[in-house]
Amino acid sequence: MEKERREKPEFHTPVYEMALKQFDIASEKLGLDPNVASRLRSPKRALIVSVPIKMDDGNVKVFEGYRVQHSMVLGPAKGGTRYHEDVNLGEVSALAMWMSWKSAVIGLPLGGAKGGIRCNPKEMSRGELQRLTRRYTTEIFPLIGPDRDIPGPDVGTSEQTMAWLMDTYSMQVGYSVPGIATGKPVNIGGSLGRNEATGRGVVYVTMEAAKRININLNGAKVVVQGFGNVGYVAAKILYDMGCKIIAVSNSKGGIYNKSGLDINRLYEFSKEKQNLSDSKLGDKITNKELLELECDILIPAALSAQIDGDNAKRVKCKILAEGANGPTTPEADQILKDKGVFLIPDILANSGGVTVSYFEWVQDLQNFFWKEKEINEKLKDIIVSAFNNMMFLTEKEKVDHRTAALMMGIKKIADAMLIRGLYP
Ligand code: GLU
Repeated sequence: MEKERREKPEFHTPVYEMALKQFDIASEKLGLDPNVASRLRSPKRALIVSVPIKMDDGNVKVFEGYRVQHSMVLGPAKGGTRYHEDVNLGEVSALAMWMSWKSAVIGLPLGGAKGGIRCNPKEMSRGELQRLTRRYTTEIFPLIGPDRDIPGPDVGTSEQTMAWLMDTYSMQVGYSVPGIATGKPVNIGGSLGRNEATGRGVVYVTMEAAKRININLNGAKVVVQGFGNVGYVAAKILYDMGCKIIAVSNSKGGIYNKSGLDINRLYEFSKEKQNLSDSKLGDKITNKELLELECDILIPAALSAQIDGDNAKRVKCKILAEGANGPTTPEADQILKDKGVFLIPDILANSGGVTVSYFEWVQDLQNFFWKEKEINEKLKDIIVSAFNNMMFLTEKEKVDHRTAALMMGIKKIADAMLIRGLYP
C-alpha cells in the first residue's frame, strides 16, 4: 500500500488516468519524443490550499482548494475555477491538462491550468461564497497573475465569483487588474459574448458536424445533459434555430417531451425551482436515462465520465458534442467509434469559453473593447477552422476525432518545448 502510494503520484485518480490514457494514445500516434511525453504526463505545478472561512452560523469551516498549472510553454496558464463537492487534486490536474490541449488545438497563445474548491456552492450563502472566493484568491496569489495564470469560471462559479476574485487580487496589489481573471461582468472589464461563448461554440461545431453527415438541423432531435451556462445556452440557440430539444436535465433530474420542450418556459421554471423534472413540460427522466434517448444530437454539458463502457452501448445519437470536460471515458470512446457516432471532442467542442476568455484578456490588456458581433465572428472563425483541421487530420492519419484533436494540441506544445530547449 505504502509502496503503491509512493509509485503513483497523488493526482493519479480515475479521472486523471482517463486524461492520461487519451494522451498516451495520441502521443504514441504522434511518435512523441519520450522525454517530452514524460514531462507532459504530469502537471508543471500544483498548489493545495486550506481555505478557512467564517460560516453564517459563526463557526469556522476549512475547505480544500487547488490551483494546478499543467503547461506554460505557449503562454500564461489559463483555466477555470470549479466549486463542486467532488473537486480533488486528480480532477483539477486532469482538467488543467485538458486546458493545455484545448488552448493549443484552437491556436491560443496560452498554457493550461485549473483551480477549484471542494464545496457545495448551492448550499452556501452569498456572503459565505464571497468570503470563500476572497480567501482562496489570497491563498493562490503566489501562482496567479495577468501574465502568469489567469483564472476563469467553470462549474459552480459565475461572473460574480470572477468579480470577487478580480477585486481581491486588485486589493492585494493596490490597483485594478482586470486581466487577472476572465468571465467577469462587462462593467468591470468582462467581454461581451463571454457568458454565452461556450454554448455558442458548441453550436458552431455542431452545425459543421451536421453538414458533414447531412443532418438537417430544422427539426433535428437534441438531448442536453446540464442546464447551466453551457447546456442552457446551447439548447436555447439550437431551439431558436428550429431544433427540437426533446430532453434536458440538471443535477437534480430531467424532463423529456418527444414533441420538443419549450426552452424559454423551461428556463423561466429553472430560475425558480431546482428540479427540472417538476416543470410539468413533459415526462420525468433521470440523468442516466436521458443519455440513452434516440436523438440526432446529444450534448453532455455537465460533469466528467457520464458515458462509460457500460452505457455507451445504449447511446443512440448521431452526433455527440461534448460540452462538458471529459464526459466520455476511453472505453466508451471505442464503443461509440464502432457504432459510427460522430464525436466532437471536448477540447474542441467546448473551447468557445476559453476562446472568448482569451479575447477578454486581450481587451483588458489593451483597454480597448470590441463589439459583440466582432467577438462572435472571430469565435466562429477560430472554432470552425480548428474543426476543419481536426477533420483533415482524422482522414490523413486514419484516427478518431478525439485522437486527431489531441494530436494537434500536443504537437503544438511539444514543438514549442523542443525549440525552447530544456532549462537549465
Ligand atoms: N472553464 C472553461 C473550460 O473548461 C474555461 C475557463 C476559462 O475561460 O479560462 O474550458
